[in-house]
Amino acid sequence: MTEELVRLGDYELDMGRVVRAVLESRARRILVQLPEGLKRHYPALLKCIKERVGLDVEVYLDASPAYGSCLIDLESTGSYDLVLHVGHDPYPYATYSSSKIVFLDLEYVGSEPESTISKLKRFLRSASAVRVAIVTTNQHKKLSKMIRSELESDGFSVVAGPAVVLGCYVPLDMGIAADAIVVVAGGFFHAIGVGMVARNSLVVRVDPYTRDVSDVSREVYRFTSRRLKKMAEALEARSWGILVGTAGQYRPWLVGRLVRLLSERDLNYYLYVAPVLTAEVLRNLDSPEVGAYVVTSCPRVAVDDLSDFEKPVLTPSEALRVIERLDVGEYPDSFLEKPY
Ligand code: SF4
Repeated sequence: MTEELVRLGDYELDMGRVVRAVLESRARRILVQLPEGLKRHYPALLKCIKERVGLDVEVYLDASPAYGSCLIDLESTGSYDLVLHVGHDPYPYATYSSSKIVFLDLEYVGSEPESTISKLKRFLRSASAVRVAIVTTNQHKKLSKMIRSELESDGFSVVAGPAVVLGCYVPLDMGIAADAIVVVAGGFFHAIGVGMVARNSLVVRVDPYTRDVSDVSREVYRFTSRRLKKMAEALEARSWGILVGTAGQYRPWLVGRLVRLLSERDLNYYLYVAPVLTAEVLRNLDSPEVGAYVVTSCPRVAVDDLSDFEKPVLTPSEALRVIERLDVGEYPDSFLEKPY
């Protein structure tokens, strides 16, 4: 099916898919969820939709944070005929499904692929890496497919991917025989997440925004050293704050496990429900009673947004190690424990 691409800032959206989704569902009340930074394009998107499907549709923008599809709240979206969720793939840990939600890719189009791919090839050759796996985020799927085909036509063997990686989910079986795992994503969060799982592999970050190509082992080392320090500080805590998320970030199995372990060890705990968690929110509720916090919603909040908070704020995997007094000199191999 041919694409009808429209620009939203530096990104492209397939308007053909939007129109098909609206016409096929006969939706009249539509909720659009755009990632942070792109919400300002709602008027342009609205104009496009109305021009294509008619004026009698009501299109609302969801103004609440849309950091990931994990935040889709079925209760608040339930009153719409159709939810257009832009920029993220379906959340792999979601415990719900809804045919009313359509997931739409966004593709970043400012990456200058040719020079980035040439840089990557030179990097892989210098590391003698021939078998390659590729992971990426929603915004760089086309670039990643292009990387795959360019590598294959130049003698490399792509053994897996491109597959979509999330901060809390690494899709690859790390037993795969790859000399290098290429992570096509902006910033370091996703590459470090892959580096923690694939400890013995070369993890190469391709940043489409800066066009950097680099081995992330040094960043993984620095990151784990910083986090181990936080875990050591949390060993002193007699009382914990458990920060509980909402929608797909509500993880009752984790909350229950933390509560049980803390109770078994005669440690206090306090439960806080926080749909959006920032340093300001945490400072506002912080009490001298609490020695350490664990964020059970999004691991990125603990390792990025609250990494400089005055008290240790840990991911679930970090907190479980500390509370269970397991080997806290060794960093866990994931940010988030999987559902069980
Ligand atoms: S890393 Fe956070 S925002 Fe991203 S999918 Fe996971 S829980 Fe959601």
